[in-house]
Amino acid sequence: MAHINRKYFIFRTDIKNRSKLYEELINGRLRQGWGIPGTSIVDKFGNIIDKNNWIENYKKSAKKLWNVDITDKDANIRYDILSLMLQIKPNDVIIVPKMPTDQTFIIAIAENGYSFEPLKICNNDFGHIIYVFKKYIKSFTYDDDINTYIISSKFKAYQAAINNIKNTTVINAIERLLEKTSSKRDTYFNSVFYTPKIIVTLKTPEKIDSIVYKAADKILKMINFKKDLDFFNRDDDRIIFSPEFEKKLEEMHPTIIEEVLDGKKPEGERKIDDIIDDILGYYVPMSSPGKIVLRWERIGCLFWHIIFKSSFIKTQLQYSFLENIAILFVLNTYIHEQFHNFCDVCRHLFSTKFDRNTEEALAVAWSYIKLNEMKEEGNNEIDIIPDNIFYDIMKRIYSYNQNGYKDWIYYQTKTTFEQGICRYLLPKSANCFSANDINIGEIIMKLNEPILYEGNVLKLLEP
Ligand SMILES: [Zn+2]
Repeated sequence: MAHINRKYFIFRTDIKNRSKLYEELINGRLRQGWGIPGTSIVDKFGNIIDKNNWIENYKKSAKKLWNVDITDKDANIRYDILSLMLQIKPNDVIIVPKMPTDQTFIIAIAENGYSFEPLKICNNDFGHIIYVFKKYIKSFTYDDDINTYIISSKFKAYQAAINNIKNTTVINAIERLLEKTSSKRDTYFNSVFYTPKIIVTLKTPEKIDSIVYKAADKILKMINFKKDLDFFNRDDDRIIFSPEFEKKLEEMHPTIIEEVLDGKKPEGERKIDDIIDDILGYYVPMSSPGKIVLRWERIGCLFWHIIFKSSFIKTQLQYSFLENIAILFVLNTYIHEQFHNFCDVCRHLFSTKFDRNTEEALAVAWSYIKLNEMKEEGNNEIDIIPDNIFYDIMKRIYSYNQNGYKDWIYYQTKTTFEQGICRYLLPKSANCFSANDINIGEIIMKLNEPILYEGNVLKLLEP
């Protein structure tokens, strides 16, 4: 979502002097041309110089330094463009196309408003400066993800040297990109991208492992934004799939999809030492540590299939929450496998036995309860997904009909779940607690926090 108090700019710089200007930019100085001595648009007290005066100054300086005669019309246009720089205020977002290469752009955050100081090593030009936060400068390739694609595909519409962006689709894409790079990958972004939303999400990154974001990223990149989505001229933030996408979808692991959607997960005799094999991910029990493997490509196939097959989701789908839905799909498997890890640790603690069907039922119930909890708690990725879409997806994901998994419904409330894990994970001697007031279920539930969030389990991605 766009910030009420923030503006967004596209700021083009001179390609011929790109390397020098890039050097300046990464040192915190974003510079604009037509900035030879005498052409500042503010005086030494910071007052805006009147247009007519500036035009005279500019013509005089250009004659002296460049030996060219500037027309009034040209000077007028320059003034109008440059004076846009005065609108840039601290915390505004500035996109610099074609920097540092033709296929990359930079996002910078203004630290200060306009100031003036020509650059000696660049013919004493490029004096118009916006100071930007040095350590928050980020570069992206045009095709990096759906957000960078939306942003760069609109560059053509903003041809002036400085443009104030009003298009909400572009603004939303910029904010998503900032959020993506801030809350998950570089926590230091938080101090600058000051928004209430990010401040409250600070508690979630520790719950959502970075591998979940990596998997979601890979899933979104399974499609080609240019070919598979038809959104180029649309401004309402809605996704329309192109016919190319339908063709591609048919090629995506048809057997896996059949198995998952029709609930025909392969089964077999498994001993405790075996890999507890799920289609979308699996857990390898500890020889300490245990290992969680997410099969991102398979999760991705399921994700795109469910989205495409649900006419309901398809008509509601906006770019803004596509990534969050991908995260939901990854989390569904990730939390499930985390639960196997939790059971594994408990078995070592309490010497209890592995029972595949019970454990799968509990694992499914566990991820169901956790995802609903996140939805209710708010201030996280799952909460951003609109209710109707979230519940539609949950209904589709949790319609299991194979042995073990399908019994999850007996554990879907907190109480029945707690009773379930006590019965499953604790030795018979723990039965004595049911006669007194010690809530052993709650104790076991508390045990999972240090195991899940501080435990040393290996996490891997597989196709
Ligand atoms: Zn499982």
